[in-house]
Parts: sequence; structure tokens; C-alpha cells
Amino acid sequence: CNNFCTYCIVPYVRGRERSRNAKNIIDEVRRVASEGYKEVMLLGQNVNSYGNDTDGEITFAQLLKEVCTVDGIERVRFMTSHPKDISDELIEVMASEDKICKQLHLPIQCGSDRILKLMNRKYTKEKYLQTVKKVRDAMPNIVLTTDIIVGFPGETEEDFLETMEVVKEVQYDSAFTFIYSKRTGTPAAVMENQIPDDVVKDRFDRLLAEVQEISRERCARFEGQTMDVLVEDVNDHDSSLVTGRLTNNLLVHFKGTEDLIGKIVDVHLDECRGFYYMGTMISK
Ligand code: SF4
Repeated sequence: CNNFCTYCIVPYVRGRERSRNAKNIIDEVRRVASEGYKEVMLLGQNVNSYGNDTDGEITFAQLLKEVCTVDGIERVRFMTSHPKDISDELIEVMASEDKICKQLHLPIQCGSDRILKLMNRKYTKEKYLQTVKKVRDAMPNIVLTTDIIVGFPGETEEDFLETMEVVKEVQYDSAFTFIYSKRTGTPAAVMENQIPDDVVKDRFDRLLAEVQEISRERCARFEGQTMDVLVEDVNDHDSSLVTGRLTNNLLVHFKGTEDLIGKIVDVHLDECRGFYYMGTMISK
């Protein structure tokens, strides 16, 4: 990673960004498609800056389009996107390619511009919210997830309340919440004003309660719809059920047998149970 967020050790231990050769990626996707795989995920610490180190030969959006042309691949996912690098081209390609799952992980980390600056995130709350608007305008049903850090050095109650405001405004489908923890060797580890544990814990609990309430409501919005599900496994707790994934990444459990694993089937979403669904298979 080239970004050097001040709390993160990744750039020090993993080195700089390197973009794999596009042809090799496509060849690999063709190979797994020929083996019967239906879904691929393109992974990187910051996938949106793919190609920046190869003189813009191919952008990440163009790579995604190429991956979508591979026969046999029916679902394409990617993560993680840095909010500063989401391009209009990427949003357009996501919206127009049916194979690209309508799910975007967009880590905000904090809603206060002052803390975002201390974190070296290189975007403001306003810029982030503009990106969210563009994404939702292009794909109204998109599932949007995020990461949030609580208790970064110097975070005041006002800064924290700004994060809460963003959470309420964006209405994330889910959010991974973290308590800030020092990584030796990073700039944030030696910053003054480290926040006392009890203050961080109190903020974390308030954030988690808000995030979970919103998630429950958001998850339930697909109830009653029939959607395609890629079956992944026999259910761990009840072997008469199989577990699969919607394109938006939510899990669904329904009656089924092992031979369905790896297949995409239509499932009616009968009931949302918090963060997952119980369903009924309509057709194979
Ligand atoms: Fe890079 Fe992500 Fe770490 Fe920031 S948080 S330095 S973008 S890996």
C-alpha cells in the first residue's frame, strides 16, 4: 500500500503497491472458470489504484470489464476500495455490468475532518458523502459497508459525534467497528492525547448499538423478494439446510442438499433474522 494512514502498519510490512499483469489475471480467471467456479473476487489493499504503477495501461474499471467477459464467471466482486480513489468510470462500470455484485465496501474510518487529516486518509467527510451519493444514484439498491475506528488519538466527543452523524446519514448495510489500537512504528502510536480505555469503550458501545440497529433494518429490506443465491455449503447447525450468498453478500439458509453446492439457484427470502435470511428455493 502507498497510502500510509498513520494508524496502519501495512505499508511498512507489505511494501509498495504492485499491479499484477492484467493478462495473467484474466488467464487465471479463465482457468478457474473452466474448473467450474462461478464467482471471483479481485483483492487488493486498494484495488482502485490498480494500474497506477503501470502508466495507466489499464484501469481497475477496465480490468473489471475484462473479467466480466469470461464465460462461466457469473459474479465478480472486489475489495478494498479507498474512498479517495473511487472513479466515475468505476461507478459506471459497476452499474452497467450485470455480473458485478452490487456491493461496495468503502471504509470511512471516521466522520471528523480533523481526525481524517490526522489519520492521513486524504478525503473529507463531504467528499466521502459525495461519493456515496454518486454510488447510490447509479445503483439505488447497492449494499454499502464500511470500517470505522473509534478512539484515534485526539478524538474528542465532538469528533465522535460527527462519526455517529455520518453513520446515521449513510445508513450502512453493515459496518466493521474497531477500537483504535497502537501499532508500534506508526506515527499514530507516538501521538499525544491517546484516549483512555473507558472513554473509548463507551463510544464504541454507542457506535455498535447504532450500527447494529441500522443493519437490521437495512438487511430486512429484501424480505419477500426472490433473488439468486450461490450455494456455498451445507449448514453447520442443521444438515437439512444449505447456506448460500446473495449477490449483495448477505447469507441465506434454506432446505437443500449437498449437490447444490456451487450452483446458483433462485430463493425466496422468507424471513430476515437480523443479519441473514431464511428462504425457500424456487428453482434450480
Ligand atoms: Fe493502506 Fe488501508 Fe493501511 Fe491505509 S489502512 S495504509 S489504505 S492498507
